[in-house]
Amino acid sequence: MISINEAIDTVIGAVRRLPAEEVPLLEALGRAAATAIVSPEAVPSFDNSAMDGYAVRGAELEAGRREFRVVVEIPAGRWVGEEVGAGEAAKIMTGAPLPPGVDTVVQVELTEQRGETLVVTEPVLPGANVRRAAEDVAMGDVLFPRGARLGAAEIGLLASVGCQAVAIARRPRVAILATGSELRPPGVLLAPGQIRNSNSFTAYGQVLAAGGEPVLLGIARDDLGETRRLLADALEHDVVITSGGVSVGEFDFVKQVQDELGVERRFWGVATKPGKPLAFGTRGDTLVFGVPGNPVAAMVSFEMYVRPALLALQGRHDLYRPYVFAAAEEPVARSRDRTEARRCRLLHRGRGWSFTTTGPQGSGILRSMALADGLAFVPPEYPGAAPGVELLVMMLEGSSAERPPFPGGRSATP
Ligand code: AMP
Ligand code: MG
Repeated sequence: MISINEAIDTVIGAVRRLPAEEVPLLEALGRAAATAIVSPEAVPSFDNSAMDGYAVRGAELEAGRREFRVVVEIPAGRWVGEEVGAGEAAKIMTGAPLPPGVDTVVQVELTEQRGETLVVTEPVLPGANVRRAAEDVAMGDVLFPRGARLGAAEIGLLASVGCQAVAIARRPRVAILATGSELRPPGVLLAPGQIRNSNSFTAYGQVLAAGGEPVLLGIARDDLGETRRLLADALEHDVVITSGGVSVGEFDFVKQVQDELGVERRFWGVATKPGKPLAFGTRGDTLVFGVPGNPVAAMVSFEMYVRPALLALQGRHDLYRPYVFAAAEEPVARSRDRTEARRCRLLHRGRGWSFTTTGPQGSGILRSMALADGLAFVPPEYPGAAPGVELLVMMLEGSSAERPPFPGGRSATP
């Protein structure tokens, strides 16, 4: 069994970035820039007023002049080409272009106007309250590197420089296949011994949240022929996620069928709990994940390995979840030969972080995941400890370019 870190690096090493496509600006929201984006315009594109007030010559204020003659009024959007001369002022609104001749705006609160005469009542520094052309963005500036995630602020910035379309990596198409003769979808009566298929639903949400396009292929019964037929369909996508059937049970056919269909195995078995029997391979550029069937194991495996791969396919650089070191609020139960990912809630206490686990931690107890906002990693062979011990906690929201230094190495135990 390889370590968590080795497993992640192997997966990311197998990723080939997907081709880019040009889309209208709003469609790029939440996706990754396929190229570095260079600004075609400057922002602001002209010197303008940051305040409602009066534009004057700063040197005259500095020389002690307090009275000016108001010669023009400039609302936002109106261009005035005539120079404002010595001893003169332009009444000006926020965002309006500065006319030639003046370089300073006195905010209206520091003035009195009597007829055409402006009186400045408080000292103002030369150059104050002016937004200079290109002070935010210069033409030709690199706005974002390739791979940057385009959130609301980035899309707004692109709009502010006049971009109408942007090249982004296409969404990975992700086939989701549940395996297990015991599985039934919601809405169908359960016969004795049957359970609900929940993994397809959690995977659907996780794929969508990672920018992928989920394609539900249903449930394969534990039957060689059916598994082969559905996995063959799944392999036509960029990424395949099967859940279940990947352990050492009598009816665990997923690995065998992967082999038959030409999937090249990169690893099977990660020294972690839950999530040990993860099988990862590739066929051509298709990434093939066989995640374990237990609902928590399936979700945790997705978080640890599939999500970074989906982001890397889209050319993102922030592949990983942010992490903190947090103090346990309760005793930390001992672990055996594998690093254990305990579902937890993070709390901010004074200066640092602490965490508390979300109830029973069995790998079938999906509620432990629903209540969690982090995964606390207990190193292997951990003897257990009183509250206060600090562990690495990976958050279940957000993105970061740094892979957390997960504890634990390889394990010889089968
Ligand atoms: P397996 O890895 O196929 O042995 O499955 C391990 C456990 O997870 C078994 O209890 C399965 O019934 C359960 N399981 C497998 N697939 C799913 C699924 N899609 N939804 C919910 N539970 C599942
Ligand atoms: Mg099964």
